[in-house]
Amino acid sequence: MFPPIQARSMQGETMAASSTRRAAGTGSSILVECCQVCGGTALRPVLFLGYLPPVNQMRNLGDRPAEQPSYPAAWLHCSHCELIQLGLIVDPAVLFPPEYPYSSGTTRILRENFAGLYQECREMMSLDATSLVLDIGSNDGTLLENFRKGGHRVHGIEPTLMGNLANERGIPTTMAFFTRDLAARMRTAHGPATVVTATNVFAHMEGIHEVVEGITSLMGERGVFISESHYVIDLIKTLQYDTIYHEHLRYYSLGSLRYLLGMHGLEVFHARRIQTHGGSIRVYAARAGDRPVRESVQELLKEEASRDLGGGGLETFKRRVVQSKLELHALLLDIKRRGGRIYGIGAPSRASTLIHYAGLDDGILECVLEVRGSHKIGKYMPGTLIPVVEESRLFEDQPEYAMLLSWHITGELVPKLRQKGYRGRYIVPLPSPAVLDG
Ligand SMILES: [Zn+2]
Repeated sequence: MFPPIQARSMQGETMAASSTRRAAGTGSSILVECCQVCGGTALRPVLFLGYLPPVNQMRNLGDRPAEQPSYPAAWLHCSHCELIQLGLIVDPAVLFPPEYPYSSGTTRILRENFAGLYQECREMMSLDATSLVLDIGSNDGTLLENFRKGGHRVHGIEPTLMGNLANERGIPTTMAFFTRDLAARMRTAHGPATVVTATNVFAHMEGIHEVVEGITSLMGERGVFISESHYVIDLIKTLQYDTIYHEHLRYYSLGSLRYLLGMHGLEVFHARRIQTHGGSIRVYAARAGDRPVRESVQELLKEEASRDLGGGGLETFKRRVVQSKLELHALLLDIKRRGGRIYGIGAPSRASTLIHYAGLDDGILECVLEVRGSHKIGKYMPGTLIPVVEESRLFEDQPEYAMLLSWHITGELVPKLRQKGYRGRYIVPLPSPAVLDG
């Protein structure tokens, strides 16, 4: 079930082919011709969600629809290393403009998760004042803040303007895309790292081998690399097809992550599931043989094998995705026939995939609500005429239904909206469309 890991040099030819063409700098996109991890060409299409606009391109209210890019979202499965990946890579300059609005500090679940990561890491590694922690894709510095408060040296790397926020709060942050060259400069300037972290960015970066090489070069002899990624097994289990969009190039299982890291001489020695983003995995790796491999690794691998992604598991997933779309249509048709108004709650990136795949427009979803202060207010949802307005409208208008677009945190949202004064019913669009009374 788990293919032997081949060192990168053994696949030099194929790897070179896959790594020479890059979307970065093209201003557009390139097709994935071979697996981004193992270089294999046996890529099987398993799901196609249609053409999706970049989730962070939102026009201002009142602007007429004008020409706008959209990109095909095809899910491919590699039969060799088990990686699932998008069939198209879009230039990161298109997807992550400097004004990229995502801020990790604003989400409670993420803040708690990062505090937990720090605790776990401190117990495992006996960190001290000389320990250096580097975070790749450090956003506003929320994760590193925990390490800094613990008295350790920290440094962030972040390409978007969120790096300014981090610098202002005292987390030294280099504002740049992570490359091998940058890694070399960091190593010279700061010395070897005790811990390198990459949370929720490992699936986003093109040229993943260069990224892992850069990470390995930053790690001290006994350094540890910790990554957190959305977990493809949870995605499949709870039908989170709405997390498929072009920022997410790869959808990792522990097996495929282990394969990727193994190609660079790193060994996964511990892994655990965490709650962020509707189900993620936190994976610890060190230089091969440096640390005893914990049972957690085999346990998760065994569970992954039982899902049988290569042998029918993905076909079942596709059938369930289609079924849930049809069920959502049936539910919405019934509400609309009775004249019900539906407002959307929250405009996370994943809402855009749901809206486009399920074909929701401004005749179905009258508006989407965001809390005061959100920079998305005053814009249209990507590629639609559905306006994003301030949350207070929900309590003034009292529409009959509120559709939870961040449905993976339904349990957290419903009591909050109830308490704030919403009296209508809730539509939970996935995994199985349902109406809740709250
Ligand atoms: Zn592969």
